[in-house]
Amino acid sequence: MSEALELYPQGREATGVRWRDRPQPRQGKIEIGNISKSYGAFTALDDVSLTIEPGTVTVILGPSGSGKSTLLRTINHLERVDKGFIQIDGDYVGYRRKGDRLYELKEKAILKQRIQVGYVFQNFNLFPHMTVLENIIEAPIVHGLLKRREAVERAYELLDTVGLREKAQAWPRQLSGGQQQRIAIARALALNPKVMLFDEPTSALDPELVGEVLAVINKLARSGVTMVVVTHEIGFAKQVADRVVFMVDGKIVESGSADRVLNYPVHQRTQKFLQSVL
Ligand code: ADP
Repeated sequence: MSEALELYPQGREATGVRWRDRPQPRQGKIEIGNISKSYGAFTALDDVSLTIEPGTVTVILGPSGSGKSTLLRTINHLERVDKGFIQIDGDYVGYRRKGDRLYELKEKAILKQRIQVGYVFQNFNLFPHMTVLENIIEAPIVHGLLKRREAVERAYELLDTVGLREKAQAWPRQLSGGQQQRIAIARALALNPKVMLFDEPTSALDPELVGEVLAVINKLARSGVTMVVVTHEIGFAKQVADRVVFMVDGKIVESGSADRVLNYPVHQRTQKFLQSVL
């Protein structure tokens, strides 16, 4: 168990989220409160605060090494923070509160908590020794959420969502990178998460395969699950994001509606970054 953390409940950022024209779900609110994270002397996250409203899509942009992936991993407690806190729907992620200090949860409790957060990795990370169907049904069965028959039924629904029903019995190595990533998305959805985190989901793909994965993510954006996406795909951000957060050197330097940040960036670093990627 790591040392108890000080709580820093103040200093939360105003949200200003642009709501989409869809029913507002009540689950999947993420509260990031003054988190910091260092690797030795290097500060990867420096006092980051962010409130993400349920059902919204937040795209995190920034140059390489600015802390985007680290921030995403802290939301799932794949990375411990040195300071501050993260809450999903009011529950501390990775910790329990006692008085004004936070104590890290035991591994089992952390794993249980992680069920509510789907994570899609850059390199898909499918289980190579399992078929597509087995990849998708494994977690809901292991966690005791669904019986095998129900899990299979749900897996076929998800395969329809990502357009790959015919690949149910295929092995991951028989699929293209784009197809593998679509299966990875279906697998993450199988646990019915409140929150989906995407860590550069298209950056390992050949350019011609990027579109099919972004199309699946775009489709999910209308499903009510809260999504946080680290990507360099500015066109996708313009099309899908409710909100864009721009990071440099472990700090959020600019955040607002996709239109505001991408078309009218205020901060010089944002302007420079957008000029370099467009
Ligand atoms: P980004 O996603 O914006 O490219 P990251 O969050 O991956 O940035 O990394 C931020 C910085 O933290 C990078 O300089 C990286 O080298 C460093 N870093 C990330 N993970 C580790 C680690 N486990 N150990 C040491 N340094 C790390």
